[in-house]
Amino acid sequence: MKLSNRTTLFASVLLGTVVFLSNCKKAQTDTATPEPTVVPTNAAVRTEVTTQAQFTVSTENTGGKDAAEGSSKVIDNNIDTKFLIFSHQSSFYMQFEFPSNTQIAAYTLTSADDASERDPSNWTVTASTNGTNWTELDHREYEMFSKRKQSKTYNFVNNNTYKFYRINVKVLFGQTNPIFQLAEIKLFNVPQNQQALAPNNTLETVVEGSNTLIFTDKTGTFSAATKAGFITVFKTNYQRMANTFNTNAPKTQVFVIDAEYEGVAATYGGSVIRYDPRYFISNPKDIDVVTHEMMHVVQSYKFNLPNTGWITEGIADYVRYIFGYDNPGANWSLPAYSSNQNYTDAYRVTARFFAWLENHGYQGIIIKLDKAMRDGTYDVNTFWSTNANGKTVDQLWQAYTANSAL
Ligand SMILES: [Zn+2]
Repeated sequence: MKLSNRTTLFASVLLGTVVFLSNCKKAQTDTATPEPTVVPTNAAVRTEVTTQAQFTVSTENTGGKDAAEGSSKVIDNNIDTKFLIFSHQSSFYMQFEFPSNTQIAAYTLTSADDASERDPSNWTVTASTNGTNWTELDHREYEMFSKRKQSKTYNFVNNNTYKFYRINVKVLFGQTNPIFQLAEIKLFNVPQNQQALAPNNTLETVVEGSNTLIFTDKTGTFSAATKAGFITVFKTNYQRMANTFNTNAPKTQVFVIDAEYEGVAATYGGSVIRYDPRYFISNPKDIDVVTHEMMHVVQSYKFNLPNTGWITEGIADYVRYIFGYDNPGANWSLPAYSSNQNYTDAYRVTARFFAWLENHGYQGIIIKLDKAMRDGTYDVNTFWSTNANGKTVDQLWQAYTANSAL
């Protein structure tokens, strides 16, 4: 985690959702981009029909539909404005009522200018001829907008005409975040011979004991062997990590293989772990990235404690070190001490310091440290002295540097 990523981390925490970004190659950037196509749709033949419909929402902005962030802003053809509500619920929908039956087979959603936690993540598109009986035409789960003001086009096959269409936004990217926002929606009529099949979006459920893993590969091309490795690591490690650190750890977690995420992997909203498929094409045996990320699920840190990102990431790599299923297979090990290191470096440097503490008179201190982080009681001025015979963390680091053998 570089400093730029830490800024992202803390900004996210301040907005009410704990987001761990690990091993990121680069931070997300807030730049507008041209519209990428998830599945190519011939823009020349599709026809936008958004404004032909009467648009209503089940929950309006508190200022009304024409307020600065009212619902009219999501169909104003301006990605610089947005519709926002403060009290999103899973039943929330946006409805288009056409003057007559109309065929829709593609739509575009554009993320708003800030706070990705507020983006839609899980939704359905339903349609009706009478406003009473609804048919589901499309559904998406665990979607991610990797950039601000990013337009994503979604296609499905529909050769029927309907008077009503609804987009029911069930879950937001922040999972528990209550604020919803969206910059733009567009609906398209698409001729039958131009309609594109939806990309692979199946959810697979793996149950191990009392734990459930939901696995979804948005690329449809993720290596079967690497996927099997991920599932093995989940089955082997998750419960024993929870037993060791947090018996109240979430029982359900989600693995999303998604090219929208650039980095290695990151845990969002507490229990949704996103993996960059490109990294695992290059590093197919690095399956203990799963161990590291699952530790973030176990950690479930809800408090925005200042200057503790190094602890969060140090513990996750320490746990990978002690519980890793096949660290040697990935050529993963803890780096030897060198004088340019500091305990605040996070990841493997901090993990090795933690391992040394466990081996040199402070057995169990990492369990206590993790608990203090989760309870929100961690304080650099009291934690170390209380749990390490009066020593400060700097004094412990000095002792480590003087004789760093594990
Ligand atoms: Zn991490």
